[in-house]
Amino acid sequence: MSRRIEVDESLDPVVIPGRILNEVCAHALESLPEECCGLIVGNEDQRYRESERCRNEMTQRHQRDPTSYPRDGGQAFYMNELDYMRVQERARERGGSVTAVYHSHVGAGPYLSAMDLQYADNAFFPFPDSDQLVVGVWDERVSGIGLFRRESRTRSFVGRSIVAGES
Ligand SMILES: [Zn+2]
Repeated sequence: MSRRIEVDESLDPVVIPGRILNEVCAHALESLPEECCGLIVGNEDQRYRESERCRNEMTQRHQRDPTSYPRDGGQAFYMNELDYMRVQERARERGGSVTAVYHSHVGAGPYLSAMDLQYADNAFFPFPDSDQLVVGVWDERVSGIGLFRRESRTRSFVGRSIVAGES
């Protein structure tokens, strides 16, 4: 029933600076038992230059309106709007842009879920062209990380594994 996109191990891995991966993984573990979310900003020279944390407000939304938001922050994320607008503004001032959205999965692997796809394709999603980075957290450890990029022609996401590079 649910369509999801997994990492395609047959494709070349994407190189992301080790310090960015460390920051994102630390955020994922600190946010337990909830999912974390945030943004990665960069420019043409360096696509993944800095990571910025955003608040996941899904639990508050779920508590206020469980019909519209049937899941809480342990199962889903909703990026705080002020947080992401601030990051976007700062990136622009420095000649860059948001190049990836990241979030974690608690007790699940690093795939792009049907719900993630729905969120990314929502008309109000602020970063429709960005990549999606997903950190799988299993048993309070990072079990894997995947990067999902849109194919330019079809606009559908393709999942790739990641290797840590130098910054
Ligand atoms: Zn997800």
